[in-house]
Amino acid sequence: MIGFGEPEAMTCSRANCRETAVWRIEWRNPKIHSEDRVKVWLACSGHVDYLREFLAAREFPLRVVAVSDAVPTDAVPTDAVPTDAGSATGGAAS
Ligand SMILES: [Zn+2]
Repeated sequence: MIGFGEPEAMTCSRANCRETAVWRIEWRNPKIHSEDRVKVWLACSGHVDYLREFLAAREFPLRVVAVSDAVPTDAVPTDAVPTDAGSATGGAAS
């Protein structure tokens, strides 16, 4: 295996925390950010509440999404059958 698929950037944004981030907090400071500007913090499971509360206390608009939404699941083995072999229970058959 080649070191691929584990970006170092995916660590918690909390100071001094090196945990792998599992949450992504998208937020904006209405006072300094324009409507289309979105900042992203990454949070481990232990700090997502802290960071969210930190922003919520300042009444910043925010959204929390799971990082895993963007990561392939480990349910598929690396030597799996080709994807054209019918992934999942397809609805092609009638
Ligand atoms: Zn953390």
